[in-house]
Amino acid sequence: MSTGAAWALLTAADLREHVRPPGSAPADCDCARLVCPGWESVSSPVGEPLLERLGSLRAEGDDEPTLTEQHSEGSSYWSPNAPIATAFFPYNRCEVWLCRRCARGFLQYTEYGGYYVDQRLREIDPGRVV
Ligand SMILES: [Zn+2]
Repeated sequence: MSTGAAWALLTAADLREHVRPPGSAPADCDCARLVCPGWESVSSPVGEPLLERLGSLRAEGDDEPTLTEQHSEGSSYWSPNAPIATAFFPYNRCEVWLCRRCARGFLQYTEYGGYYVDQRLREIDPGRVV
């Protein structure tokens, strides 16, 4: 999955700058099949050739980023309206991917439960990034 590039630690400002708002993306793009306004479980990571890795929200060498979540408006982990709080769980361990064609952005990470490993995917709405 690694491109071999140097570790690129991204900030909330980077997401706002590089990611296209979902509502303005072309409906016929290949990435339109990725419908994930909130977190979705996917069978395997989504990557190239559809998406290109932009960087990571996990600080290099940080093996235990906080498990605390940040919410607003009564949102919960699975809510499509949950803020994308880059310093909080689970965003603080996500890789950031962009559609090569339309620059829609996606977050991905692996959830390690007691008896399962689950790959999670969520679309980035720059307006929800805090
Ligand atoms: Zn696209």
